Amino acid sequence: MQYESTLEFARAQDEADPLQACRDRFYFPSLGTPEIVYFTGHSLGLQPKTVRGAVELELDEWAKYGVEGHFHSTNPWYSYHERLTPPMAGIVGAEESEVVCMNSLTTNIHLLFVSFYRPTRKRYKIISEAKMFPSDRYLLETQTRFHGFDPEDAIIEVAPRDGERLIREEDILDTINSHADEVALVFFGGVNYFTGQLFNMQRLTEAAHAAGAVAGFDLAHAAGNVPLSLHDWDIDFAAWCSYKYLNSSPGNVGGIFVHERHGRNFELPRFGGWWGHDKKTRFQMKSGFQPMEGAEGWQLSNVPILGMAAMKASLDVFAEVGMPALREKSAKLTGYLEYTVDELASEFPDAHISIITPRDPDQRGCQLSIDIAGRERKLFDAMIPAGVIADYREPCIIRMAPVPLYNSFEDVYTFGQIMRGLLA
Ligand SMILES: *Cc1c(COP(=O)(O)O)cnc(C)c1O
Repeated sequence: MQYESTLEFARAQDEADPLQACRDRFYFPSLGTPEIVYFTGHSLGLQPKTVRGAVELELDEWAKYGVEGHFHSTNPWYSYHERLTPPMAGIVGAEESEVVCMNSLTTNIHLLFVSFYRPTRKRYKIISEAKMFPSDRYLLETQTRFHGFDPEDAIIEVAPRDGERLIREEDILDTINSHADEVALVFFGGVNYFTGQLFNMQRLTEAAHAAGAVAGFDLAHAAGNVPLSLHDWDIDFAAWCSYKYLNSSPGNVGGIFVHERHGRNFELPRFGGWWGHDKKTRFQMKSGFQPMEGAEGWQLSNVPILGMAAMKASLDVFAEVGMPALREKSAKLTGYLEYTVDELASEFPDAHISIITPRDPDQRGCQLSIDIAGRERKLFDAMIPAGVIADYREPCIIRMAPVPLYNSFEDVYTFGQIMRGLLA
């Protein structure tokens, strides 16, 4: 695609964008600046305008029915989580039986590790990417320690080569192959939160299985951002949050995927709770845990209805638009941001601006991470007052995501103009 840094070009792209109307379905924050370019959907998605009504409905039903709302409200709370499964399964490319929404992300990964990280004295190592999101790193450290291993020995991190920013797939595959007799689990982020690098999850899963290991993924930055086919890729398990690209409200419930071949395996160790117990006998309140088939068998508790109502309203937008249309716009819009950043880099060489995210659209979602080595934090601090909301990570990295559901080509153009003003 040929890009141009003009308002006419940006507006013409927006006119031709089949998703243009989606923007109006979200609230944009107002921070007292003339323009708001919101590029932080990678951390907290914007609020869909339908959320308030969905939450108010459940508040009204609670007022009206009290406990009877579990069975008599418009959307009975007893089975509320089941309403979220079809749209969520569509987003991650799974069978409905393989997905359930529950708890929060780090909690869910710990629960899944109970079933899928089962180290033995010989086979106990976990291969993951270097510079994981800290919560995941703490999770790996405490899990390996819990099983009696030294994290320094048990966690093998694959890092970029000296002088490089991204992890080479060949290096991941080599690491898996060369530890084939001692690796228990390959655990990666689908999209790395820092660099925005999208890994080939199917290939990593194949390599993990060939080595006799399990493959699991943290999809916090992948769900709702890139096309996923978790079932077909034969991934063993995955978990993600819903408040980043999935716009479900701050800290809301996450999602899990358990491949159907494991969902039927009742021999797998797991921690039980009444919501994972066979629905038919749940209310007999007897001892003897019998997990449900599928991902639902990993649930523990009855669900937070107010949060789930917000999530349902948000996932409905995804179900309507579909990931293929989102991906198509995402590639163009992210390409336009890439073009704009490249222009800034050549206009202001002293700022030493460079994009660290892969250039290949197949190896990234909508996030671009840029290094601003020449200007550091001062530049970022000036961005919010000027109307650009992005995110800063040490050392001097700005992470931005033009989100195809609600960002526009004009947003990218405006970003470029604001940055020109700040850099000059
Ligand atoms: C956002 C994010 C988390 C956050 O975990 P919570 O349990 O939802 O607080 C964890 N891991 C990754 C990779 C993330 O991007």
